[in-house]
This record gives sequence, structure tokens and C-alpha cells, in this order.
Amino acid sequence: MKTLILGGTREAREIADIASGERGFDIVSSLAGRVRDPLLPVGAVRVGGFGGVDGLREWLSANEIDTVVDATHPFADLISAHAAAAATDLGLPLVHLRRPGWTAQHGDRWLRVPDLAAAAKTVGELGERVFLTIGRQGVGAFAGLTEPWFLIRAIDPPEGALPPRHELLLARGPFTVEDESRLLADRRIDVLVTKDSGGDQTDAKLAAARAAGLPVVMIDRPALPAGAVVMENVAQVWDWLRSAAQ
Ligand code: NAP
Repeated sequence: MKTLILGGTREAREIADIASGERGFDIVSSLAGRVRDPLLPVGAVRVGGFGGVDGLREWLSANEIDTVVDATHPFADLISAHAAAAATDLGLPLVHLRRPGWTAQHGDRWLRVPDLAAAAKTVGELGERVFLTIGRQGVGAFAGLTEPWFLIRAIDPPEGALPPRHELLLARGPFTVEDESRLLADRRIDVLVTKDSGGDQTDAKLAAARAAGLPVVMIDRPALPAGAVVMENVAQVWDWLRSAAQ
């Protein structure tokens, strides 16, 4: 059975890792090609956009794909929508892997907002020194904020306009709570902005913010396409793949 894994996440690499050791599974992982030095999954990998729904549909047909796993990041909503449309057109089974979002704990001071624009509107009211941990994409939504100072952390430098008062910190997680607490104190951070990515690779900043009593602007996830089949962990997707192969 030939499977396309739309990747760019740890879970996508884990599925490729499991399936590549199993007879009867032919896996191709796909990366958008955004990160300069990506962590590569085992097995076959293709890199770069497909060219919208039409391009993806053509690629799926030309490569005789039987099943599709959308294991992209919860905020990569465009490729998820394209995958849903192309799979529906071709009648291919598709599952979306979405790790659960984060849940506020006792002591958290979270303000949930629907999107980046709402986060940019809110953040200036919460403090003057902002830790922006939304990755490389979307920083432009904060570019018009001239008053607050931003610590912008990303794996690769963001492109496009940035807020005028900022420091850019290039780093790849996971980070420890101790590291995050030190960073918050060193940079005298007042407020943290994050996407609700979920998972345990980047949640230390939330524990550090909780310990420091800092507010967190939590950007909600975009919705998946209507009717999407959603699974929340690698084990569930692997079971699904095995039954699809029978
Ligand atoms: P997006 O907005 O949903 O997609 C934009 C375009 O990028 C898509 O239309 C598609 O181009 C291409 N694309 C995205 N993922 C692809 C993949 N796995 N393989 C081939 N093409 C892909 O995605 P994004 O938010 O830019 O994220 C890009 C990648 O980075 C994703 O694979 C995601 O898993 C990873 N990532 C994203 C975030 C985040 O916060 N958004 C965080 C960590 C990792 P075409 O239309 O030309 O096919």
C-alpha cells in the first residue's frame, strides 16, 4: 500500500519510522521546504509545494498513492484543506493527525484569541516586553506594533516586515523549563504569545510563564475541513494504516 505522509512534524517522522520497517508499506513523506535544515524522516522524501489542489491531485494519481496521512502542524491549515479536497476528488482514504491542544492548568493566566490578528490587537494591552513564540510565519501580523519590544524566537529568520523594536533569537526546541524561566527573567518579559500547537516539545515556556505569573496570549487552532477524520496520536494512525492495508 502506497501512502503519502504530509509532514513537517515529529509525529510525521514517527509514522514514517514505524511504517518503513514493515512489509507491504511504501511510504513517501512530503515537506513544504520551509526550514533550511529540516529533520528528515526515514525513507523516501519529496520537498516543496504541489501547486494547490490540482497539483496535489495530479501528484497523487501519478504516484499511485492509496492512502494519505495529513500529519502537518495544527496551524498548517491550507495544506490540510488541499489534502481533503484532493483525496475527496480521487476517493482516497485520508486521516488527519492532530495532537491535542494544550489545556490551562491552575495558575495559568491565558487569554485565548482566534487568530494572529486578534493576538496582535491584544498583546500591547498586556505588557511592553513580549516573547513571540509563534515560529517564523505570522510574525508580520505584529509588524505594525511600534511601542512594545519583542523577543522573536524561531528556527529560521522570519521573512518580511518585523516589529521595529525586537531581538531575534534563532533556536530549535525542545527547551527546558529552567532555560525558559531564565530567558523570561533575562529579557524581562511581560507577556508571552504562542500558537496552541500542543505536544511536549515546546510546552516548557507555558510552565515557565505560569511560574513567573505571566499572561499568555494563546492563539487557537484553525478548523479542519468539515467531515475530516481526525486522530490524535501516532498509534491510532498506525492502526488505521494497518487496517487500510488489509
Ligand atoms: P500551509 O499554510 O498549510 O501551506 C501552504 C502551502 O505550503 C501549501 O499550499 C502547500 O503548497 C505547501 N505545503 C505545506 N505543507 C506541505 C507539505 N507537508 N508538503 C508539501 N507542500 C506543503 O502550511 P504552513 O503553515 O506554511 O506550514 C508548512 C509546513 O511547515 C507544514 O508541512 C507544517 O507541517 C510545517 N510546520 C508549520 C508550522 C506552523 O506554525 N504553521 C509549525 C511547524 C511546522 P502547494 O499549494 O503548492 O501544494
